[in-house]
Amino acid sequence: MTESVHHIVIVGGGTAGWLTAGIIAARHKSRIQSGRFSVTLVESPNISIVGVGEGTWPTLRGTLEKIGVSETDFFRECDAAFKQGAKFAKWTTGTDDDYYYHPLMFPQGFTQQNLAPHWLRDGGGRSFCDAVSPQGQLCEAGLAPKMITTPEYQAVANYAYHLDAGKFAPFLMRHCTQKLGVRHVLADVTGVNQAGNGDIISVSTEQAGEVAGDLFVDCTGFHALLLGKALGVPFRDCSDVLFCDTALAVQVPFDEEDAPLASHTHSTALKAGWVWDIALPTRRGLGYVYSSRHTSEEAAHEELAAYVGPKFKDLKVRKIPIRSGHRETFWKNNCVAVGLAAGFLEPLEASAIVLIELSAKLIAEQMPANRQVMDIIARRFNETTLYRWGRIIDFLKLHYTLTQRTDTAFWRDNCDPATIPERLQNLMTLWTYQSPWFFDEFDRLEEVFPAASYQYVLYGMGFKTEVEDDEAADAVRARRLMGENLALTQRLRSQLPKNRDLIRKIHDFGLQPV
Ligand SMILES: Cc1cc2nc3c(=O)[nH]c(=O)nc-3n(C[C@H](O)[C@H](O)[C@H](O)COP(=O)(O)OP(=O)(O)OC[C@H]3O[C@@H](n4cnc5c(N)ncnc54)[C@H](O)[C@@H]3O)c2cc1C
Repeated sequence: MTESVHHIVIVGGGTAGWLTAGIIAARHKSRIQSGRFSVTLVESPNISIVGVGEGTWPTLRGTLEKIGVSETDFFRECDAAFKQGAKFAKWTTGTDDDYYYHPLMFPQGFTQQNLAPHWLRDGGGRSFCDAVSPQGQLCEAGLAPKMITTPEYQAVANYAYHLDAGKFAPFLMRHCTQKLGVRHVLADVTGVNQAGNGDIISVSTEQAGEVAGDLFVDCTGFHALLLGKALGVPFRDCSDVLFCDTALAVQVPFDEEDAPLASHTHSTALKAGWVWDIALPTRRGLGYVYSSRHTSEEAAHEELAAYVGPKFKDLKVRKIPIRSGHRETFWKNNCVAVGLAAGFLEPLEASAIVLIELSAKLIAEQMPANRQVMDIIARRFNETTLYRWGRIIDFLKLHYTLTQRTDTAFWRDNCDPATIPERLQNLMTLWTYQSPWFFDEFDRLEEVFPAASYQYVLYGMGFKTEVEDDEAADAVRARRLMGENLALTQRLRSQLPKNRDLIRKIHDFGLQPV
């Protein structure tokens, strides 16, 4: 291995592998063009990708734009649709009228003023989401977050995507190999060859011999072939906090080709977990994520069947075992794990792909010049990434701890303080007296979920923060901001097209390139 870091080898060609390849190759494009740097992706022709993971975060817009993808092509080739947030149903009380939105827009004037205390004092009979953001209403009306005249990647209302996971990786592969100079090797990795200090020198493959490199990225999914198996980094299980360990996934056809298309993820709580329901232009993808300690597979099937309706009997159900947790460390020696190889948490807030983007960006930006500085960068990467995983675990658990449901052991056990991380318990005590906000200590790093997300979940689920009288000083501005939000809601409701109509237009005419 040379001392300088010139040759990057990524093993695994799922969403993690190709996003990482694209982000690194785009950042180091001129070095690749001049032949001083290379990115090679080795992918098994025999082991398929996980093929789920269809909800994303708005960061993906920036990522796709940065790596040079056309948004129109992405819509056309990945069966993509807009996502403006998530609608959580039956999470608080379990009744039919129980729902709240976690939208993707910040509350109105979020960087100027925290509206939560004012809403708590006088919300005007509106839900927190409706009082501070138009986006719940846009979702309820089935509207798109932009117009056909809005250029690629720009938004009227902030948005992410729903996409077909089976189409996304091949789409990125074509872009990376044709436009960014990534070398693609279709071969099964059969061995990992290490130097005396533990560094990986090369991987042996069945079809393409040895592939050598200076830095290896493990994107082998649940196999964790490099970081887990070869380098022996243990897995830190967190199923004592997040109980779900199985997913039953199905794809459901629409009744009619032009059926209304939701622009949000539905997340509906059931007896021992919850169902994700994501609408793509050509089908819905959904799945029951549940705890096998709290229900049987047969009972889970029945609940899912009841959710889907009569069509369920004709559908192929795929069972996916999941294990919540992550590697104890993410970068060891000259190997760093991204994606499922780094860990997995239930997809309640679509946190996996955004974490892939953030990790790949950090690797690309901090690309070590040589082996000597790699350990310094690895330490930094590990600190940041460990913090992010911990924060996501807290945020996911928050959804469970705020429930008032006591109808099954699953919901009762979730509220057992012994299952709630200490940091989250402390934050919830703090939030009893002050609500999380933008200028909080809280938004320390590039957070996966900012304070606004916590506000939407806390107040959507009925959490009460005690409100001090002296905050009334800001009341005039707060009333003005909430008034502006109502006006904006009305304006957008009358201007924005239906979600399906816009997607059809994008397929027919395309968006204006940036
Ligand atoms: C039920 C479920 C629902 C999910 N929903 C969401 C969601 O809504 N939003 C979200 O952000 N994320 C979601 N995720 C997570 C998301 O699917 C993954 O983070 C994402 O797909 C990345 O997967 P990956 O690339 O790490 O692994 P994979 O897709 O499994 O890819 C692994 C790659 O490694 C290769 N490989 C393995 N072994 C070898 C070998 N020996 N030699 C060569 N190559 C090898 C395979 O061929 C494959 O190319 C969900 C996950 C599950 C399980």
